[in-house]
Amino acid sequence: MALPPLSRRGFLTTSAGALAVAATGTSSVSGAQPAISPQITRGPFIYPFRIGEVEAWSISDANSMLGEGLGLMWPEEQRPTMQTVMEAHGEPAAIPLYVNVLLLRRGKEVLLFDAGFGERENPNQGWLYEGLAAIGITPDQVTAGFLSHAHGDHINGFIKDGKAAFPNAAFHVLPAERDFWQGPNPDFSESKRNKKPLPKMVASAQEKFEILAPVTETLRDGDELFDGLVRVEASPGHTAGHCCFRIRSGDDELLHLMDLAHHHLLMFADPNWTIAFDHHPVQAVVTRKKFWAQAAYQHTRCYGFHLPWPGIGQIVSDGSGYRWWPEAWKWVG
Ligand SMILES: [Zn+2]
Repeated sequence: MALPPLSRRGFLTTSAGALAVAATGTSSVSGAQPAISPQITRGPFIYPFRIGEVEAWSISDANSMLGEGLGLMWPEEQRPTMQTVMEAHGEPAAIPLYVNVLLLRRGKEVLLFDAGFGERENPNQGWLYEGLAAIGITPDQVTAGFLSHAHGDHINGFIKDGKAAFPNAAFHVLPAERDFWQGPNPDFSESKRNKKPLPKMVASAQEKFEILAPVTETLRDGDELFDGLVRVEASPGHTAGHCCFRIRSGDDELLHLMDLAHHHLLMFADPNWTIAFDHHPVQAVVTRKKFWAQAAYQHTRCYGFHLPWPGIGQIVSDGSGYRWWPEAWKWVG
């Protein structure tokens, strides 16, 4: 007699329940599913690695889904093709939101590249502070913060209790980014995003920049800081002052892509596809193509803020597009 197939949902529920039982050392005799502790469902979220002589960590700050799914992707008429690409790779037609914060330590220098969601009521966001604590780094040990752009998932974590979350850290940003948000009338006319939350978003970013003003140090495209450890690479489009950071130590290099990619498949399969959050979609495509072509040609090790955690990998040419090739998980000694 053939057994009825176990549904995927049933399988997942059973597996998760089994894991919870195994982890707590208890067993369920009542037949009811044991509650799954948040620690178990979250799993590890600090990934240590190295870039030359520098210690690096990828810290996961959040886990959520972008509710609108492919509805966030443009051009609209390409969505059926996007769906086909997703199905061909066994991907659900949904867009997960990974938030990966890069942390570097070289001696007494502790550098943070964007700071995640910060304090939130949502328990699935704002894990950076816990991540730092788990590594053993206190907020006052962070010596420099770098900002790619001022969307809330990037800037908010720099502020805690209305003050700088990292009291001894300089705050580095391109003037084009700061000036956009602080200007009299930030222009979102090219963006495909929902415009309703914008006044609140702008006010929030302005407030953050004001709090951080005393420690702000403006960057220039091409700047090299910390003896060449950090190179600033302007990459406008997602926002006017969006920038990437190229980390170099010895012969090693890591290019932090920041928000050039919001999905591990879509933004690579066809770099012309954009996400609604881009302020300037046409410019975002030009920038993305430039970075993808160079990174693929040079086999650059890359890191993505919104790519599946821990977010390290390479961009590989694939037909007329590209592919994100994640680096295999390694344990460092
Ligand atoms: Zn982002």
